[in-house]
Amino acid sequence: MTRLMHRSLITTPPVAVAARGIEIIDAQGKAYIDASGGAAVSCLGHGHPAVLEALHKQLDQIAYAHTGFFTTEIAERLGERLIEGAPEGLEHVYLVSGGSEAVEAALKMARQYFVEIDQPQRRHIIGRRQSYHGNTLGALAAGGNEWRREQFRPLLTETHHIDPCFSYRFQREDESEEDYAARAARSLEEKLTELGPETVIAFVAETVVGATAGAVPPVGDYFRRIREICDRHGVLLILDEVMCGMGRTGTLHACEQEGIVPDLMTIAKGLGGGYQPIGAVLVSGKIRDALRAGSGFFQHGHTYMGHPMAAAAGLAVQETIRQHGLLDNVRAMGAVLEERLTARFGNHHHVGDIRGRGLFRAIELVEDRASKRPFSTERKIHAAIKREAMARGLMVYPMGGTIDGVRGDHVLLAPPFIVNEIDVDRIVSRLGDAVDAAV
Ligand code: PLP
Repeated sequence: MTRLMHRSLITTPPVAVAARGIEIIDAQGKAYIDASGGAAVSCLGHGHPAVLEALHKQLDQIAYAHTGFFTTEIAERLGERLIEGAPEGLEHVYLVSGGSEAVEAALKMARQYFVEIDQPQRRHIIGRRQSYHGNTLGALAAGGNEWRREQFRPLLTETHHIDPCFSYRFQREDESEEDYAARAARSLEEKLTELGPETVIAFVAETVVGATAGAVPPVGDYFRRIREICDRHGVLLILDEVMCGMGRTGTLHACEQEGIVPDLMTIAKGLGGGYQPIGAVLVSGKIRDALRAGSGFFQHGHTYMGHPMAAAAGLAVQETIRQHGLLDNVRAMGAVLEERLTARFGNHHHVGDIRGRGLFRAIELVEDRASKRPFSTERKIHAAIKREAMARGLMVYPMGGTIDGVRGDHVLLAPPFIVNEIDVDRIVSRLGDAVDAAV
């Protein structure tokens, strides 16, 4: 019997004993292609020599120094590196240990900003019903993933949620993409009017939705409209790029493709590529300057923030991506992945949608393609696909859930940025077999 409480208390997962490149090996010697990067984490694959070397070097120098006493050269260098690649206006970096921590810090920083500039009446956070921002209480409250929130609702602070932007499910047939984008964005305007815009701190959204609905990109000028609404009402825009950021969609930050810059941006997963737990908030000059001119202190902090080993991993991963031009490969292989998924599933009776950007792709499973009728919850299709994929030596990230009363099963693919065409073919072939076996 295992002493660990695993995610499932019923089954124990296979024991991973080694990993190299795009594969993880279990204790029986079976190899699994990591086609989801775990959960969009392992952007460089496993065992990358440049990262291992950087970690060994950092361990020799200094493994830990509390940020209440010291900064470290490696954390400062990572800060510089992240701001070099950040959209203009994001000028400072707050380092934490993961995605949920980054979201918590961003929410608190947004609130403190308004306290510092003498607008303490701003107290509301608005998120979307189609979103996941983490499992800690503040992040869970901001998110709209009901499956994850439901039983904890009494512990969650009051937050407000608006419509998703999810064209496959919610764009009407008589509506153009632009009309739909305008309608989805209007939902924010309506919520602000309802709450009183002067009482709202921030709107938080994933630029490309990850775990809740499976690689759902925004449509049309949705985010430009959102940015304009936030600006008009003095509300901060927080983009959560914990999953879709750091190159996953083909640009370093997914918001580059939307032509907007948020006031705060959260990143994690691909930042450290899984070599160490790390996350960060990219902070606009406006917010940092207000805190500096006010109390001069951000009322927050974690023991492991700015951890030198995590910073070393983050810096090595980001430098490697840059030096090897891996974002070009994300775009090229992303196009190949899209093409292969379309060839395999484009006419599949049980695949309703194929979507995503770069190496962040998903298929949505349906009972009936023509009517988009979803599978019933009882079928647990996403879980069956995961099982069948694992049996075939393939890791994919499946998820089922309900948004605005509409059920969905989807399978997310987020392979490492180092994949080649042969890898992509193997991934799609095994996934095709797993889907056929599961449905
Ligand atoms: N935000 C988004 C968009 C995520 O996808 C996740 C995790 O899946 C989180 C936040 C939480 O990150 P973590 O699991 O590192 O706490």
